Amino acid sequence: MKTLPIQGIPAPQVFEDLESLRSNDVDWRNGRVFSLAYYAGPEASAVAEDAYRRFSGENALSTDAFPSLRIMQSDVLSMVGPWLGADTDSAGFMTSGGTESILMVVKAARDQFVASGGVTQPNIVLPTSAHAAFEKACHYFGVESRRCAVGSDWRADVAVMEPVIDSNTILLVASAPQYPQGVIDDVPGIASLAMKHGVNCHVDACMGGVTLAYLERLGHGIPPWNLKVPGVTSISVDLHKYGYTSKGASVVMYRNKQLRSHQGFVTDNWLGGMYASSGVLGTKSGGAIASAWAVLCHLGDDGYTQLTDRARRATVQLAEHISDHDHLVLRGYPDSTLLSFGAVDPSALNVFAVADELRTRGWYVDRQSPPDSLHCTVSAVHRSTIDAFISDLDSSIKKVLDSRMSGNVGTYGNLE
Ligand SMILES: *Cc1c(COP(=O)(O)O)cnc(C)c1O
Repeated sequence: MKTLPIQGIPAPQVFEDLESLRSNDVDWRNGRVFSLAYYAGPEASAVAEDAYRRFSGENALSTDAFPSLRIMQSDVLSMVGPWLGADTDSAGFMTSGGTESILMVVKAARDQFVASGGVTQPNIVLPTSAHAAFEKACHYFGVESRRCAVGSDWRADVAVMEPVIDSNTILLVASAPQYPQGVIDDVPGIASLAMKHGVNCHVDACMGGVTLAYLERLGHGIPPWNLKVPGVTSISVDLHKYGYTSKGASVVMYRNKQLRSHQGFVTDNWLGGMYASSGVLGTKSGGAIASAWAVLCHLGDDGYTQLTDRARRATVQLAEHISDHDHLVLRGYPDSTLLSFGAVDPSALNVFAVADELRTRGWYVDRQSPPDSLHCTVSAVHRSTIDAFISDLDSSIKKVLDSRMSGNVGTYGNLE
């Protein structure tokens, strides 16, 4: 067990120790990791890190003391707005990530519907594919989660959702795309259902918010997915994913200020005076905000167009390899840059053993179930590693088939 050094250690030694601590971490900057980290190259990464460092000690709890952070947040919202289909009525906040954006949307809907009377035991209606963060939000805020089976194409089934809605429903959820199989839900269908029942509709575009905007510009046919769809009341996009900025940056955008007004929290019920905050956190580093601002400015439309094109090409290459594979089944053709796949015959091929084999070859993929599947979040960096990955995937499968190995599902995230 480490104890605090009695005498401080000189910085060079501290950094040497820090570097040695990460010797067993996954190698994401070299495109060997299909989860958790996103890399747009050394230059964008240096911009992100330098901007973070410059503002890491500034506190976004008070934009009165740090007007720079107020300006940066408002710039980030206006730069990102067009991706999300925002107009002059739209209003949003930056948050620390997709989870906080989703927590705040559920909390805002709860406060809105409880305040307007009628709703006493709020529930949300969402497909089984919607992110685990909605479950967390329900657990934290005393809201019931009503999960609805997805269709055979893994998309939300609007016909299954409708009968579950009742007078205590506050919110419907659609994802663009959903994380597990990477397909886009029927956003217009779910949003019009929400309008019909007078409830809110959130689009979780935490993954797709950047990519889908640029795939559209690149001429890929993308079904309607953002605030331009009537009935959508809010949308989220994670800048620390396909925005390629430092961790700790997401945007939640509401159709109007009225909807957004339920997100904040204000109290004077203590001895410290008036206290107001827009999200879960109190003190909040300016680092992630400055980093997002800097990376958006540095990459620009042309940068994101190229990064999206590279990520999509790598995704298509992998998807086609899996579709043609004798032993693998692609769960759904990827609508953006996420995909998952399983074994044609799960009794003959254990995909988690394949993931173990890939790990020994230096690759990291996500494991998920049900059904037992491997999941890849493909980003720009994979354009140059996808050939090597495909070849190691095949050799891993061969090894597992030959030796009939078994493996474990593992967990997504952990409690340590
Ligand atoms: C990543 C993700 C989230 C959660 O975001 P965090 O940044 O991990 O908190 C929510 N929804 C989807 C679709 C995601 O991919």
